[in-house]
Amino acid sequence: MSRHMLFVPWQYIADWKCDACGQCCKAYSVVVNFHEWLKIVKNYGVEATASGLNKLFIKRRSDGSCVFLYNLSGMYLCGLQRMKPKACKIWPFKIVSKPDFGYASEAAYGYGENRLFVYVDSTCSGLRYGKPTWEFSNHILKEFIEIALGFRIEQYKTTANINFSSLML
Ligand code: SF4
Ligand code: SF4
Repeated sequence: MSRHMLFVPWQYIADWKCDACGQCCKAYSVVVNFHEWLKIVKNYGVEATASGLNKLFIKRRSDGSCVFLYNLSGMYLCGLQRMKPKACKIWPFKIVSKPDFGYASEAAYGYGENRLFVYVDSTCSGLRYGKPTWEFSNHILKEFIEIALGFRIEQYKTTANINFSSLML
């Protein structure tokens, strides 16, 4: 099976909400750009990173998990929130300028003048399949796209929504 089979066009997704299962932070190597790498090195040392094949990565533990992943009351959280790499912020969405993974009309998304193609990695457990809700297509996806295009940095809807007061009970 081609790895492209993993990508589903956004119009098949009703909604997405990260349930902090941590799977994505265990299954993938995170590629960082030089600026992100430098910030991590300044704050955590070069040991928190890795390099190979002309790319810079976040270090993974022997079980494959990212060194910044931690478990709190059964939820997997990111210890790098303040400088979380763009690749992690955009996950599980794939925002591209051409319909690289097929289904062009189902993947098309108009953002201003831009015609983009949006897919989602089906291995994420936070996906609900069906007709996109208004909130998903107009707010959640928009935030992912703005992060991907570099128009915004802060995340509101594109990360796990953790209610810390409930954890303190
Ligand atoms: S983005 Fe998806 S795979 Fe990653 S922690 Fe959230 S629900 Fe799990
Ligand atoms: S930096 Fe954070 S979000 Fe990215 S893989 Fe590591 S724990 Fe997950």
